[in-house]
Amino acid sequence: KSYLSDRVAQLKPSGIRKFFDIAASMKEVISLGIGEPDFTSPAPIVQAGIQSLNDSETHYTANRGILPLRTAISEHLEKMYDVSYDPQDEVVATVGGSEALLLAISALLNPGDEVLVPTPCFVSYQGIILLAGGVSVEVPSRMENNFVPDPKELEAAITPRTKAILINFPSNPTGAIAERETLLEIAKIAEKHDLIVISDEIYDRLVYGGQHVCFPALPGMRERTILIGGFSKDYAMTGWRIGYACAPREIMDGMARIHQYVIMTAPTMAQFAALEGLKSCESYVLDMVKEYDRRRKLVVEGFNYIGLPTFEPRGAFYAFPQVSVTGMNDEEFANRLLTEKEVAVVPGSAFGPGGEGFVRCSYATAYDQLEEALDRIHQFVKSI
Ligand code: PLP
Repeated sequence: KSYLSDRVAQLKPSGIRKFFDIAASMKEVISLGIGEPDFTSPAPIVQAGIQSLNDSETHYTANRGILPLRTAISEHLEKMYDVSYDPQDEVVATVGGSEALLLAISALLNPGDEVLVPTPCFVSYQGIILLAGGVSVEVPSRMENNFVPDPKELEAAITPRTKAILINFPSNPTGAIAERETLLEIAKIAEKHDLIVISDEIYDRLVYGGQHVCFPALPGMRERTILIGGFSKDYAMTGWRIGYACAPREIMDGMARIHQYVIMTAPTMAQFAALEGLKSCESYVLDMVKEYDRRRKLVVEGFNYIGLPTFEPRGAFYAFPQVSVTGMNDEEFANRLLTEKEVAVVPGSAFGPGGEGFVRCSYATAYDQLEEALDRIHQFVKSI
C-alpha cells in the first residue's frame, strides 16, 4: 500500500536528474547537461546580499516582496519592453521562476482544465500542471520550423476545457526564439478563444542578435498574460532562488494568496541582491551575453561540422543537435556518450514530444571545456 496521493504517484522523476547522478560519479566528465550559468553572480549582487545580512535584514519581508524590488522590476520592464505593471498590486517576488510558474498554474486551473504546452519544453511544466489537477496538452514543434510552434496546430488543440497557453521564448531546451509575427498570431488565438497566456520569459536577456519580444507588451495582451521572469539565468543567480511574476490585478490577487500561504516571502537577502542586480549590473549581463554568444557560435558550428545537424539557437544557452542521424535514439546516444567519452548531455525526449532524436547541450560552460567536449563528441560520432 502506498500513502502517496494519486497525483504524486503520477509524477515522473525528471529525466535530467538521472544523468546528473551518473555524471556526478565520474571523474573526467564534462557536463553540458545542466541548465545553469557557469558564472558566479556578479560581485555587486553578492555584496548586496552580504550587506543586507549585516544590516540585520534577516526577517520576513512584505508578502509580495520588498517594495523597492517590485518597483525596480516594474521600472525595468517599462524601460526594456514598454509594458507597465503597478508594483503594489501586479508584481510578486517569488522563489525562483519555478514558484512563479506554480502560482500561475495553481491560480488558474480547475480540475480537468487544459493547458496548451508547446514542446519540447522545460521539464517542470507538465509536473506543475498535473499537481494543480490540470491536463497538459502537448503541441510538438519541429526543427524545420526552428522549434517554434505552428499557431494553426496550437489552435487545433483547443477544446472547451482549454484555459491557458504556456509559452517559453527564448526556449529551454531548444534555444528558439519566436518572431513578433508568430507571437501576434498566438495573441490573436488567445483573444479569440479567451485564453490566458503564461509567458515564461526567464531567458529574456539572453538573446543573440535582435530584440526580445515581451508577450504582454503586444496589443491587448497585458490583460490576459501572466509574465514569468527571474534572476537565475540572466544574472547568474540560480542558488539565490529569486524570480518574479507580473499579472493584471485580479489574477495577481489569486496568485499572491497562494504565495502567502505556501511560501510567505521569497528569501530576504536574495531580494536585496536581486534589487542590486537591476540597479547596477547591466554591464555584467551584457558581458555574459557576449561570452555566451562566442560559445554559441563555437558549438553550433562544431556540431554541424561533426555531422549532427543543429539549428541556430538565438536565445538562452542551449544547442539542440539532432543525433538520430547516427542511427541511435537520443537516450542511447546520451548514455553511450557519457560512458564512452564522459560528456554529459540530456536526451531530448526528456523535454517531451518533438524532442526525440535530439540532445540538449548547455553552453553555459567554459570555452575550453566546450572545445574539449566537441572533440570528444567528434571522436564518438566517428567511432560509431
Ligand atoms: N523556466 C524555464 C524555462 C527554465 O529553464 C527554468 C530553469 O531551468 C525555470 C523556469 C526555473 O528557474 P528558477 O531557477 O528561477 O526557478
